[in-house]
Amino acid sequence: MPDRIIFHADCNNFFASCECLERPELKDVPMAVAGDPENRVGVVVAKNELAKKYGVKTTDTVYAARKKCPGIVFVPPRHRYYGEISRRVNAIYCEYTEYVEPASIDESYLDVTQALPFYGMAPEALADELRRRIRQEIGITISVGVSFCKIFAKMGSDYKKPDATTVVTRENYRDLLWPLPVSDLLFAGHAAVKKLNGKGIRTIGDLARARPEAMRGILGKQGDMLWRYANGIDDAPVALFGAHREIKSVSRGRTFPRDLTAPQEIHTAIVYLTDEVARNLRRHRLKGEVVSVQIRRPDMTDISRQTTLDHPTYLQHEIQQTAMELIEAHWRAGDPIRAITVGVGKLVDAEAATEQLTLFDLMGQGASRQKRERLEAAVEDLRKKYGDGSVTLGIQENADIGLRRRK
Ligand SMILES: [Mg+2]
Repeated sequence: MPDRIIFHADCNNFFASCECLERPELKDVPMAVAGDPENRVGVVVAKNELAKKYGVKTTDTVYAARKKCPGIVFVPPRHRYYGEISRRVNAIYCEYTEYVEPASIDESYLDVTQALPFYGMAPEALADELRRRIRQEIGITISVGVSFCKIFAKMGSDYKKPDATTVVTRENYRDLLWPLPVSDLLFAGHAAVKKLNGKGIRTIGDLARARPEAMRGILGKQGDMLWRYANGIDDAPVALFGAHREIKSVSRGRTFPRDLTAPQEIHTAIVYLTDEVARNLRRHRLKGEVVSVQIRRPDMTDISRQTTLDHPTYLQHEIQQTAMELIEAHWRAGDPIRAITVGVGKLVDAEAATEQLTLFDLMGQGASRQKRERLEAAVEDLRKKYGDGSVTLGIQENADIGLRRRK
């Protein structure tokens, strides 16, 4: 099994960054978000880079923070507003993969293993693209850790910030992470660190090189776990976005290296995007009834259009046709396009939907669709056997606009 590619994306100074979005003047002064700022015992929950320079820390009281930094501006927290920004950030992540697992309001894990070949980019370049998009489209910055497991991805996003990408590989993790104090290891709490330090274990490397039995002796089960984490032994999966809810739609989006204007290029882009959407629907055994297209203009404004089919589908062919119809009906030919997202929503279980198809059959409409389903299933089988490049849906590779078929 080749290694997974996991991102941990962490919004920098999240609450403070959100406040600065609405009140840009706050960017130029030391500021902190603090519960009950009128009250001296209110506590700092976030601060901007300027306040950080004065030594202001999260959990400082308002009183202590003002002592360190007399000019500091306090604002009260607005959690609903932060939740809204968080939702928009995760929506961008979800354009790249359904495996987006929010770990808190400002951090998410992404598993991009399956999505990456579609973008034809190195993992680091995709992480950089995410950072750029969040910066440009939301207006805040994120740090991204890239690694083969969640733990190291998380430590990667902490390694350098703000607005940085850190790649932790099987080759470099010893050099990068092992010199760090053991307290930097995820889940190494205050008490555990104290016990480890007492046994002369000061760095993550000390812990990793120790015998696992010895660690168990010091910390019990937790010792085992920390030893595994220090060695990058962590196969915890990244959950599907909304796994605790329900997947509401499957979509794929692409921002092009240059604006598209030619009908042929738009067609090519739609084939690529709908191919990915169809494959993901099939992978999750889902069909959907609503096809949507979102087009972004060079000035970053969007138009969104959707239409409801008379039956749920996961057929690439049908999604492509519907998406093209939407574009032809609602987009003036020749107007430049910066980005396109295609989605399928109102999802249902694929098997249940197929049963309904037989009813169509009786009316003579379903036969060709069933044929098409068998055809696309056969295409998927060929790709599994001979690689993704083996079947190309009759379009040319178009690296110029950032579309390259999987190898
Ligand atoms: Mg954060």
